[in-house]
Amino acid sequence: MTLEAGSAAEPPRSPGVFGRMVGLWFGVPLWQRIIAALLLGAAVGLFWGPGAASIKWIGDLFVHLIRMAVIPLVLVTIVSGVAALGDPRRLGSIGVKTLVLYLFTTSVAVGVGLSLGVFAQPGLGADFSAATPQVLSASGSVGLGINDVVPANIFKALADGALLPTIFFALLLGSAILATGEKARPMAAMFESASEVMLKVVAIIMEFSPFGVFALIAMVMGTTGVSVFANIGVLALCVLGGSIFQSLIVHGLIVRLMAWLPVIPFFRGITDAMLVAFSTSSSMATLPVAMRVAEENLGIKPAVVSTALPLGATVSMDGTALYIALLATFAAQAFGVQLSLEQYLLIGVTTVMVAVGTAPVPSASLFMLAGVLTTFGISPEQTAVLVGFILPFDRVLDMIRTVPNNTSDLAVATVVARWENEIDVEIYKSSKDI
Ligand code: ASP
Repeated sequence: MTLEAGSAAEPPRSPGVFGRMVGLWFGVPLWQRIIAALLLGAAVGLFWGPGAASIKWIGDLFVHLIRMAVIPLVLVTIVSGVAALGDPRRLGSIGVKTLVLYLFTTSVAVGVGLSLGVFAQPGLGADFSAATPQVLSASGSVGLGINDVVPANIFKALADGALLPTIFFALLLGSAILATGEKARPMAAMFESASEVMLKVVAIIMEFSPFGVFALIAMVMGTTGVSVFANIGVLALCVLGGSIFQSLIVHGLIVRLMAWLPVIPFFRGITDAMLVAFSTSSSMATLPVAMRVAEENLGIKPAVVSTALPLGATVSMDGTALYIALLATFAAQAFGVQLSLEQYLLIGVTTVMVAVGTAPVPSASLFMLAGVLTTFGISPEQTAVLVGFILPFDRVLDMIRTVPNNTSDLAVATVVARWENEIDVEIYKSSKDI
């Protein structure tokens, strides 16, 4: 007797309470479940206080799950994306446009950060007496070295989760597949199938995101909470206002004016990625979700998704640039340094370079701050006091600035995809999943 015959003989069973609840849960779009988790988590955290730290493990579990997917996803999608290009020269064209746009948006972010710092003057009257100086080990390195990009051992780079060396190797492997032609067909097909599977892995992990987001937000609200805004008031408001401006206005305008596409479907399509960036404070953890929404909701083709987004996660950080520029003016005001126009320019240029070199992980900016502050004579000891002052509040500011770090990548990917004819405008306009 076949299974079909057996099941056809049984009367259809109505789902039990549990079945109905599961149906109800999955009937709600994921982004709505994540927002509900975020709001609930914030309320529980405020109510529970520091005790909320006891559910940190649930948040950590989510971040581990999603970070686990980063390296395999980046490797297989880049290889298959490049192999799908057909012509290796197109890689150069996509790469150059992407990098130029990333530098452009980061420079705008630095301008926004400096302007906010000059006009709102967040550092005036800052009182560092309660700060515990933080000695920074990894401070001050500006830009990227050869070791950061070209791996001496690809397996070590993969095992260490080093993104740029992985990107470098994957670009090379994809180009080699293209250059080999006919004989490399099976390998290209294998990577294409692997990237579909990895995107599915991300989709499965994302089903856990409401629980992870709930725990992460409850913990932050319970341990730091909205007290950030009272304690470092103007600075926190500048980070919030600047980040909203950068994401909604600057990145919105880039999509509108450079990709000639409506803005609403863009933000609707990337909601999941923005929420994950906000709750994890990590561009690295957001990368798999960003790649998924870019392909499935914005209709960007793998060739651009796989090259622009992993690169953007590491080199393009608008929120970080804005934050570092703002902190530079904050430090100048707090330590009584009068900045000249040349010094502002120097701060601007150094900040762009520092933002490129900042790791896409929580609180990374703070460890890069010294590189900018030394340009106008702030000593390592003063930097240590400043970082000690900010650190207790940094988590909330980090959540806020990590959002523009990711919207910049998605906006640039949309523009480059449009210029390269690598976007399905129908999918973009319908922005499914919402
Ligand atoms: N948390 C940021 C990110 O992952 C980096 C930073 O500004 O600290 O994008």
